[in-house]
Amino acid sequence: MSRSINLAVIPGDGIGQEVVAQGLKVLNAVLPEDVKLETKEYDLGARRWHRTGETLPDAELEALKEHDAILLGAIGDPSVPSGVLERGLLLKLRFAFDHFVNLRPSKLFPNTATPLAGRPEIDFVVVREGTEGPYTGNGGSLRTGTPAEVATEVSVNTAYGVERVVRDAFARAQARPRKKLTLVHKNNVLVFAGHLWKNTFDKVAAEYPDVTTDYLHVDAATIFFVTQPERFDVIVTDNLFGDIITDLAAAVTGGIGLAASGNINPTGAFPSMFEPVHGSAPDIAGQGKADPTATILSVALLLRHLGYEAQAARIEEAVSADLAERDGTARTTDAIGDALAGRVAG
Ligand code: ATP
Ligand code: MG
Repeated sequence: MSRSINLAVIPGDGIGQEVVAQGLKVLNAVLPEDVKLETKEYDLGARRWHRTGETLPDAELEALKEHDAILLGAIGDPSVPSGVLERGLLLKLRFAFDHFVNLRPSKLFPNTATPLAGRPEIDFVVVREGTEGPYTGNGGSLRTGTPAEVATEVSVNTAYGVERVVRDAFARAQARPRKKLTLVHKNNVLVFAGHLWKNTFDKVAAEYPDVTTDYLHVDAATIFFVTQPERFDVIVTDNLFGDIITDLAAAVTGGIGLAASGNINPTGAFPSMFEPVHGSAPDIAGQGKADPTATILSVALLLRHLGYEAQAARIEEAVSADLAERDGTARTTDAIGDALAGRVAG
């Protein structure tokens, strides 16, 4: 564990600015005095694109590599054509830094609204593959715009790519008390990719006899997310399935204001990036209404990734305690940040 953190901060657009300020407030409050925190802000996102036409220039990509980790608020605005910032900035970073583990914990905190009857215990983490599947831009369109148009979007799955994320998920499952890992795929229909995933999963499982394993088709998994979420501990799945089921997971665990995520390169070859699952929320930007909790929980994931386990746990306990005392009275972004910073300080 290094005694300094050199953090890149990309506040981004809309409420990204507001929630990142609270994340940094809590980070400063939780770090021991002898840990030196250096931050450098990067102006990337919709405003930058409008001003200069740039999404992520190479010089900034190179500069970002020098940091220990990246904290991102949110990127995107309705004024920017769809795909420009997603492909030109977010996916570019994910591929350049080989963020092959997209980590998304789902926990139902006390006193938090859930649409699920009977308040089941929910505490699982989805390990979503981050660099393959249908996200690689392989495919194309023939006879575009005609009644005979044919569009393909190829899902790429390599033995290398699948094995490394499956291994990461087994290690994470083994480190948790319940030690259970569920593979989610659709291998009855997507047979080629499905077999690679299932065979790889079974092969690695042999090295982890203490981890209980399970397999679910993705459609069945969505049913269990609602009817029996307590059956999940760690889930490993491909890029697209992971995208969809983690939104469902956020919905059953109190919503988008609480969902944290990490885009992780577990090898440490490049900095990992932590961000709330939600977007820039232009409808509430600038009003001090955004809930910064998802960003603050993302800071906890960042700290855990850098080896600051005690500090990460302190943030999670503070969030849990704070939520337990929320009585439905609306609090400002700043007030929630102050309350959590107060709880973790010490
Ligand atoms: P993106 O395409 O960037 O994922 P999106 O269209 O999915 O964005 P969000 O920006 O995530 O949308 O917002 C979805 C809804 O959730 C909006 O009504 C927004 O106001 C609300 N919302 C998002 N984040 C928060 C937050 N931190 N606190 C409160 N409300 C939020
Ligand atoms: Mg969204």
